[in-house]
Amino acid sequence: MTTDSAAPTHHSAFRLARRAEVLPPSATAALDARAKQLIADGLDVINLTSGEPAFPTVDAAADAGIKAIEEDFTRYTPAAGMLELRAAAAGRLAAQGASYAADDVVITAGAKQALHYAFTVLLDPGDEVLVPAPYWVSYPHMVSLVGGVPVTLHPSPGAGLRITPERLRSAISPRTRLLILNNPSNPSGIVYTPDELTALAEVAIERGVALVSDEICDHWVYDDAEFVTLSSLGPDIAAHTITIGGVSKTYAMTGWRIGWLAAPRHIALAVSAVQSHTASAPSSISQRAALGALEADLGTELLRRRDELAARRVTALRDLAEMPGITVGGDPRGAFFIFADVSGTYGFKAADRTINSAADFAAFLLADVNVAVVPGADFAAPDYVRISYTVPPDRLEEALSRMDAFVRGLR
Ligand code: PLP
Repeated sequence: MTTDSAAPTHHSAFRLARRAEVLPPSATAALDARAKQLIADGLDVINLTSGEPAFPTVDAAADAGIKAIEEDFTRYTPAAGMLELRAAAAGRLAAQGASYAADDVVITAGAKQALHYAFTVLLDPGDEVLVPAPYWVSYPHMVSLVGGVPVTLHPSPGAGLRITPERLRSAISPRTRLLILNNPSNPSGIVYTPDELTALAEVAIERGVALVSDEICDHWVYDDAEFVTLSSLGPDIAAHTITIGGVSKTYAMTGWRIGWLAAPRHIALAVSAVQSHTASAPSSISQRAALGALEADLGTELLRRRDELAARRVTALRDLAEMPGITVGGDPRGAFFIFADVSGTYGFKAADRTINSAADFAAFLLADVNVAVVPGADFAAPDYVRISYTVPPDRLEEALSRMDAFVRGLR
């Protein structure tokens, strides 16, 4: 097909529906693809854009997946997922202090699909969803896709990229239905404390707003930061919370596509009904693999992996602190990201081009020293770039040293 014939024509019977026309492809994925293309072309690019830890899938999951194929476990599962896996996910949440039964859990094709289903069953056209910035790029699009209205909630200056109860209270309107909390946060790496979460949830609940808690990075917390699952903070909070999680990041299983939603029973039932008519169920093989991961005793291996990322985080924070014009945002102690304000480099020249935005910064950094980071515009934080420290330590140190040379070379 030529480019011309694929161009949108509003008179064609095949014109896109309005909901698809407002949906741009993911810019983060586009940048990741560009960096990968440069690598494929033979350039020594260091890619700090990745949204996944660079570990192999845990053996227990891979083995269980292979066994599922060998045993011909290759048919439809129940729409809400295999009961054993729903129970295992509920068990993992119970270990974090939440109380969900297997029937409150629906297994989905990744946390992403769980979020999409949650918005599908909870939002009517025009309903508003508060999305604290900086946010993971997909939230606003997922909300718009089902006719909801995403409302960006910018943190107050000086709040360290955190939303405060006061800020939340001022943003709630009569149309607000949901507040998304992403803890630990992609892209900022912020981890909320139990007190902060309770205070935010109390404001939301008092105003009739339910909470969607995206906890996909729950395993990845460092230093003395503690991950707390929102619904463990009291029965009233649990009754107003939809918990989103999965195996993607914890067990290095992003390609297996298994996540879950845990929620009050009537919501789980509605989500299961939607899934039954759309995806039927997630892959049976992947569900077995996820069950393998959840049932294995992986404590030591997961802690070892966490220690590795913890060390990389320390290296990155140490080096970034020395770089002129760059300021780390907030207190990143989770996920595997550092969100850095690069506005201190604005007005300076890299070779003969002037940096006027974080997008310029990222583009020139990639062109001049072959280091890829994600500019923050799509996260609603246009002065920032997201730096993922998941790459091996020698590559991370090399990338940081190239970045340092780049900023010191600005004139
Ligand atoms: N939520 C956040 C905050 C993420 O960063 C990601 C992945 O990047 C997801 C959800 C999606 O997870 P999954 O791959 O399980 O769909």
